[in-house]
Amino acid sequence: MQSIIEVMQAQQWFFLLTVGLVSLCVGSFLNVVIYRLPVMMQREWQSECRMLLTDELASKGESEKQKPQQPFNLVKPNSTCPKCKSAIKPWQNIPIISWVLLKGQCANCQNPISPRYPIVEALTAAFSTAIAYYFGATELALLYIFVTWVLVALTFIDIDHMLLPDQLTLPLVWLALIASVLGYTVSPTDAIIGAACGYMSLWSVFWLFKLLTGKEGMGYGDFKLLAVFGALLGWQALLTIILLSSIVGAIIGILLLSIQGKDKATPIPFGPYLAIAGWITLIWGDSLSAYYFGLIG
Ligand SMILES: [Zn+2]
Repeated sequence: MQSIIEVMQAQQWFFLLTVGLVSLCVGSFLNVVIYRLPVMMQREWQSECRMLLTDELASKGESEKQKPQQPFNLVKPNSTCPKCKSAIKPWQNIPIISWVLLKGQCANCQNPISPRYPIVEALTAAFSTAIAYYFGATELALLYIFVTWVLVALTFIDIDHMLLPDQLTLPLVWLALIASVLGYTVSPTDAIIGAACGYMSLWSVFWLFKLLTGKEGMGYGDFKLLAVFGALLGWQALLTIILLSSIVGAIIGILLLSIQGKDKATPIPFGPYLAIAGWITLIWGDSLSAYYFGLIG
């Protein structure tokens, strides 16, 4: 075990290759998380509502029969083609390669398989390898690679459902705080203030915006995601991330407007901009803040 770590530290290509391959497989799993986690959450809400309703009906002397539900989680049931329900064979789970070999079609019914699956796998591998390249075989790199994986899932779930699940954001806050206590990142003081200020800054913007315009421009998930970055990078990085996310938002917004046209442009969640800006700050945060503090002073 010790020798593997030594080889990874001595041979950068070996570390990059390992991270790339592992992240491809993780990307394949993230596709499952992106698709299933929101469905699992919705099922949970529905069953809670049904339970409340059954209690109420029972107290009125009426009763409703509960239908037993099939288990649905990240492991069960096995993946099937959404069109013909034929089971997906083990080799068809091989990231990217299986999609290319299947020519983007179901082996059974020839219905197209979304190119988003290989895209998520490729992005996960590319971003993780970038972290591995910048930080080398260190504990910090492993932490950031894990954060990258969760960010990929959060980004696509937010694009699909305008939702950043607590199940993904909150554990990252706690992980970042523990990492700071263990001495891998910033000081615990910077991390705790970072988490609190990250949450509260967007929370205040949200309420100010709501009081002024009556509209909601963000959700509570966005506050928690900024808290993640505050806890990871310290409160000093928050301004960079907020500025950068509005720049990223403006660029993507203009691109989407020119592609989709003004009347077709759909409202875009804020989470992906935050995730992209935060991820950029993980790698280049120091040079970015040096740059604009240079501009100011
Ligand atoms: Zn099919």
